[in-house]
Amino acid sequence: MSDGGSVVEGFADYVDGETAIIHRVALRLSPDRLTLIQPDGGSEDWVADDLREVPDQADPSMLVLSRAGNPVARLYVTDGEISKLLRRNAPALHRRPPIENKPRIAAWGLGAVASVALIIFVLVPVMANQLAEFLPPEGEKALGDATFEQIRTALGREDFLPVETCEDPAGLAALAKMEARLGAAQDLPYPVTVTVLDHELVNAFALPGGRIVIFRGLLEMAASPEEVAAVLAHELGHVVHRDPTRDALRLAGSIGVLGLVFGDFAGGTVVLLLANELINAQYSQAAETGADDYAHALLTEAGLPPSALGTFFARLKDEYGDAEGIYAHFSTHPQMTARIEAALEAQTQAERAGELKDPVLTPAEWADLRAICGPSKPEPDPKIPGNSKGEPSRLGRG
Ligand SMILES: [Zn+2]
Repeated sequence: MSDGGSVVEGFADYVDGETAIIHRVALRLSPDRLTLIQPDGGSEDWVADDLREVPDQADPSMLVLSRAGNPVARLYVTDGEISKLLRRNAPALHRRPPIENKPRIAAWGLGAVASVALIIFVLVPVMANQLAEFLPPEGEKALGDATFEQIRTALGREDFLPVETCEDPAGLAALAKMEARLGAAQDLPYPVTVTVLDHELVNAFALPGGRIVIFRGLLEMAASPEEVAAVLAHELGHVVHRDPTRDALRLAGSIGVLGLVFGDFAGGTVVLLLANELINAQYSQAAETGADDYAHALLTEAGLPPSALGTFFARLKDEYGDAEGIYAHFSTHPQMTARIEAALEAQTQAERAGELKDPVLTPAEWADLRAICGPSKPEPDPKIPGNSKGEPSRLGRG
């Protein structure tokens, strides 16, 4: 299979159909066969009679080949000259595989799964990282606002009302004072927006575009305003490093691909998946360490004890153990103990340097912040059946 008898060489991408890895292979076209040469020197011959073109490709300039007898493997040829030679010389390029061959159909299915896996685990993360570099601040903000509303809806109760944001004026003032003390985000292209949601989860997370969400459950769990400030500083670290933006783009891409494959994969399922993933964001070890380091520096600069991050983590660990729980974001990696120790170590250094100053909030302001969703004990409301006196008030708000 050559032009005028000479051997033609080039390159193509090869997927073996069993793993979702793209291999760059060298091609050698000889009169009766196509030889694929792997980077490690291994080679494989595809006889010209066995070459099949995979029809209906998105990119018409690309020739996608499979091989009779091995329908899951794919060869992606973009070199126009080689494509032309292959089209001219492979006699059975357009022959369809016999449809009655059941194992072969199962193998095609395997190939489809491998393709989706390739897109979700290889292409989407790469594209998400690159897209994050180009996304303008307004785009990040819009992405954050949209996911914020989805999360509120997903966490809403059975009456399908979104979870409420907590806006008691005195509580908001205390929160604003804490944010000002941390003085973060001078380097950010958008303002940081901190919102408390009226939900009992002990968690906090960051969304794209500078939005940070703290749950009421975390305010109730914290022993001091410094611990809340430490969590806030940690989330600011994620915002500054744009971890939520990359994460959200990766998720949106993956879910979009699943939607293409499964068609009706939309609506509630997507919202739940997206909300769950964003709330329990599982950043890399490096991202968490980066956020902790940022928090330590920010807290120290603000004259606040970085050890508060450690004491808060330690309290979570006492309460829930090392298992993944509702505080998933803070415990997803195994180095919890190391983070506690690092935070406590930062305290001793800061204290030695005499950098600790005033508490971040007065006791009265701290009480205001904890009551930002309303009084912690709900007033018995005769209009709502079942919300009478004596009922557990865990979910209640005033
Ligand atoms: Zn984190």
